[in-house]
Amino acid sequence: MARLQLSSVTKSYGDFKAVDDVSLEIADGEFLVLLGPSGCGKTTTLRIVAGFVEPTAGSVRLGKDDITALPPWKRNAGLVFQSYALFPHMTVNENIAFGLEMRRMPKAEMAPKITEALRLVRLDHLGDRLPRQLSGGQQQRVALARALVFRPDVLLLDEPLSNLDAKLRGEVRVEIRELQRKLGLTTVMVTHDQEEALTMADRLVVMSEGRIRQIGSQQDLYERPAEKFVADFVGRSTFIDGRRDGPGRFVSAGGLIVACEGNGSGSASLALRPERLALMSAAAAAMDNCFPGTVEFISYLGSQVDLHVRLSPKERVIVQIQNRPEAPLPVIGEQVHVGWSKSTGRVFQS
Ligand code: ATP
Repeated sequence: MARLQLSSVTKSYGDFKAVDDVSLEIADGEFLVLLGPSGCGKTTTLRIVAGFVEPTAGSVRLGKDDITALPPWKRNAGLVFQSYALFPHMTVNENIAFGLEMRRMPKAEMAPKITEALRLVRLDHLGDRLPRQLSGGQQQRVALARALVFRPDVLLLDEPLSNLDAKLRGEVRVEIRELQRKLGLTTVMVTHDQEEALTMADRLVVMSEGRIRQIGSQQDLYERPAEKFVADFVGRSTFIDGRRDGPGRFVSAGGLIVACEGNGSGSASLALRPERLALMSAAAAAMDNCFPGTVEFISYLGSQVDLHVRLSPKERVIVQIQNRPEAPLPVIGEQVHVGWSKSTGRVFQS
């Protein structure tokens, strides 16, 4: 069993806590993604699992063993970094052999392992090339083969795709995920790219300022963000500030009276998903909320279009509409009505 468990892990640098009381369980064979903005502590958390950073407090367990005090080379973890970190003067085969030599594997046993690892990443014909004779995507696959060749219990990926161009990134994403599934490898990946996180993860951990903000599936985070930070960081939200005003009512700073779910009082922020707001005709105002507004800015995104609509001197929202060739787009200055159902808005007390 390669279940990974972090218990109350903290890493302090002086008074600053880069990782603050992080507890996590990653199931055998699970693909877990640590997601968060730059500086949130995700890389430090991964480096603690890898053994490069010693935690100030807390423990790391792999299966039944406490590995907190083990040096990196005694942990059976395969690592892939953003920078590939291949040795430039060694061939692909030699790069992959390196990890086996470090583990003192007899030379005769190495060759079939290297061939198998290269076959896994579909590079079996390129073993004699030097890294500079490979494309970025191929180099990253060599790095992956090098991490897999000694059959690690856990695979740790640190922004492995950020050096690849957008199209290649999409392809390698699928390759890594399929391979991980096939091998049933317990995997932790770090990224700040929410699209990457959402497409690859079984489960996600959103971090900010060293702490876990929410753990859950894609739907948990998207449909039920636990706090304003998560609503903003996962998917897109457009916010209206104001206050809760009793059951089912939110009053914006600009005086809009908005129907919402739940109860409470005091200052709050209403989060709305742009794709769940709709343009409507004033006559058909059947939604829980419908406000007149003026289109102030238009972003053309291809299949979708973002309309920035001013609802009051203090409030502007983004409405994402589908771009259909038969339907003319609104123009700047046009008067429109924006509607949404009360279940769409999430209110966060502030
Ligand atoms: P990025 O995506 O930019 O790599 P991150 O979320 O992975 O960010 P970490 O690299 O884990 O963040 O860093 C978390 C915080 O800890 C940052 O504010 C960083 O400056 C700080 N930090 C990391 N290593 C050290 C160190 N050796 N000494 C002091 N502070 C550090």
